[in-house]
Amino acid sequence: MTQKAMDFIDDLLQALKDKGLYRQFRVLEGEQLPLAKFDGREVVNLSSNNYLGLNTHPRLRAAAIKAVEELGAGSGAVRTIAGTMSIHEELERRLAEFKHTEATLVLQSGFAANQGVLGSILEEGDLVISDELNHASIIDGLRLTKATRKIYPHSDMDGLKDVLEESKDFKKKLIVTDGVFSMDGDIAPLPQIVELAEQYEAIVMVDDAHSSGVLGKNGRGSINHFGLDGRVDIQVGTLSKAMGVMGGYMAGSQRLRELMIHRARPLLFSTSHPPAVAAACIAAIDVLLDEPELIQKLWDNAAYFKDGLNKLGFNTGHSETPITPVIVGKGDLAMKLSDRLFAEGVFAQGIGYPTVPEAKSRVRTIVTATHTKAMLDRALETFEKVGKELAII
Ligand SMILES: *Cc1c(COP(=O)(O)O)cnc(C)c1O
Repeated sequence: MTQKAMDFIDDLLQALKDKGLYRQFRVLEGEQLPLAKFDGREVVNLSSNNYLGLNTHPRLRAAAIKAVEELGAGSGAVRTIAGTMSIHEELERRLAEFKHTEATLVLQSGFAANQGVLGSILEEGDLVISDELNHASIIDGLRLTKATRKIYPHSDMDGLKDVLEESKDFKKKLIVTDGVFSMDGDIAPLPQIVELAEQYEAIVMVDDAHSSGVLGKNGRGSINHFGLDGRVDIQVGTLSKAMGVMGGYMAGSQRLRELMIHRARPLLFSTSHPPAVAAACIAAIDVLLDEPELIQKLWDNAAYFKDGLNKLGFNTGHSETPITPVIVGKGDLAMKLSDRLFAEGVFAQGIGYPTVPEAKSRVRTIVTATHTKAMLDRALETFEKVGKELAII
């Protein structure tokens, strides 16, 4: 009976296979390094978000080990019951100081942070205005609220202005955007967004997942990058990408922190981080402050690699950050390029519909501070060989 009732799963899997969307994990053996072993093959790794190599940084490792020894493996409860440890609050103080905001609140992930923030502030009758390319965690966070949603074309300021103009009747308006867009590597036009928000009295929320540790002084993010400290009401950041560990946070006002402590459901109903996570995140902030040369190296490597791809004749879109797409058009061609690159020793994820429009299918590359020139050259040579073989260049 159960057997038969569960047959729908086979149909759903078959449908994915028919559309060429069926995937299996690539499995990493050992550490997340720029030259790493996935599925038993050593490859130049252009697929991790480990921008600064902090996943394996000695200071983060040491901090995590010390926290396990002194504080144990788990936190034992949700934040609002018995699961707020002093190290959680120490991380929040350090983050607030780092981000130049009054307060921060850390949640289990960037995904949870978006859900927590949006669910805390949006109510029926409110309006949220969202960039069409915003991250899935924003889209899902919005779906859980009863606010009215309007979408503006990607980074289109005339489009945003039109929506604001036609929406003057809404009392509470929130503009939400990624700081850096994860599939294209372009930066949101935050100065214009902030100006429009001030003109139309809207709240601004920026999700800085791919900018935390990457943009701004010491990696403070896209708001700091544009000199907009103090003019963006709500920042969401992740501790899972360049920061090298796991977690997400709201950086903003003390009163928003207080509200979220009462209303952010991932905080209320899901256990807080193990102390080792908080400790390693604190160490990550220390590294950003003490070793800014890592960020310089990241940007040098990004410029070198992007330039190499452009010289070979690949279409890299309008990336402005270490995320560089190689846009090839058809989805099956992107997957073929990714597979052939992998077979030749370069891991760059193929991305097609529905993550990006079919005609903009691509492989996405992310270089890190820890790639050597030799690794990047090897990757470029492989891109040249496979690109010619598949008649992309
Ligand atoms: C990766 C990402 C997230 C999710 O962050 P996690 O900490 O991995 O949950 C949220 N928003 C954006 C824009 C992202 O790129």
